[in-house]
Amino acid sequence: GATIGVLGGGQLGRMLALKGREMGYRFATLDPTPDSPCGQVSDRQVTAHYGDEGAARELGRIADVITYEFENVNAGVAAVLERESYVPQGSELLRTTQHRLREKRAVEAAGVPVAPYREIQAIADLREALQAFGAPCVLKTATGGYDGKGQFVIRRIEQAAEAFTSLGGGNVELIVEQFVDFERELSVVAARGTDGEVRTFPPAWNVHVNGVLHTSTAAPGLIPADVDARARKMAADIAASLNVVGLIAVEMFLKADGTLYVNELAPRPHNSGHYSMDACTASQFELHLRAVCGLPLPEPKLLTPVVMVNVLGEHVAPLLRWMEAGGERTLPEGVDAKLHLYGKAESKPGRKMGHVNLLTDDPDKALRWIETCGIWT
Ligand code: ATP
Ligand code: MG
Ligand code: MG
Repeated sequence: GATIGVLGGGQLGRMLALKGREMGYRFATLDPTPDSPCGQVSDRQVTAHYGDEGAARELGRIADVITYEFENVNAGVAAVLERESYVPQGSELLRTTQHRLREKRAVEAAGVPVAPYREIQAIADLREALQAFGAPCVLKTATGGYDGKGQFVIRRIEQAAEAFTSLGGGNVELIVEQFVDFERELSVVAARGTDGEVRTFPPAWNVHVNGVLHTSTAAPGLIPADVDARARKMAADIAASLNVVGLIAVEMFLKADGTLYVNELAPRPHNSGHYSMDACTASQFELHLRAVCGLPLPEPKLLTPVVMVNVLGEHVAPLLRWMEAGGERTLPEGVDAKLHLYGKAESKPGRKMGHVNLLTDDPDKALRWIETCGIWT
């Protein structure tokens, strides 16, 4: 079998490698942390920083195909690899999705709407944007943010200076967005093959807590059919316009009037697509691997309604107590749990340690259980 090289050794790479091993591939990981989640299940790990060109070249020599599992891989390194190895996703997609301004422009160029935004260079730009958009607005660093880090919600125009300074304004690039009064957050994971064929996963309804994804729910009829169709088309249009090979995850806001805005993109497997591991005919990891390996892409179908809930550092101890106290046997009737843990050595509050896929005919029952079982509250 061919060897797939993964830039980034986190849980996304790990789940990709676990699926890929089933498909007969070998894996090599590049990550600065020894024994990373992906390194643990790979044949080899090159332990070095993502910006280390020598290490990237070493990965390139081991691997037949190179993919990335997070978007903050050094784009310069990706460009070197692209010249010397086979990187079907390309480095341009990284450049675009690493930077919120470039990303929004790329989404607009695909004919897909985003919420009103402005580039912020000076505090005066921010004051002007706040006047134009009205409060609340969200100020974000253009690069590097994840799990809601690098963001400031400006509720009153007088907070402009505080927000600008606290995010390092003047030294780092910033962007301000109008705060979207959304009814729901959705995401669509799309896969695009080397032949340009696109498949989309059923849209997931996402709930965030403190800026971190808490639950993703997918079920027939959960999202109105017209919204489902528009959301999938937006993701497919973006995938085609950006010439994606592999996965692109598209986060969206749905307003009460039916308007859909794209929030952000991720050129890789996405946390909100983890439900597909247990609830679909093919998972996001399988479609990503098939795409980057030039294999045909099946249409992923939902086998059962599903609720995915993240296990963060603070949830690990109560989860283990729950398991010791009988765990699965105490689940409500008609709810089955599939537990996934990422093998991270160190547990920290807010850190993604695993997730549970709850398979059920009644997502509301599963969501109620999450809020009352004592693990997540
Ligand atoms: P991720 O971990 O998904 O990469 P991130 O740190 O890149 O997150 P965003 O997705 O931009 O951040 O924002 C995190 C969450 O904050 C969103 O899912 C949404 O709940 C809220 N949020 C961000 N921007 C806006 C906005 N313009 N209007 C309303 N809510 C927003
Ligand atoms: Mg993000
Ligand atoms: Mg996000």
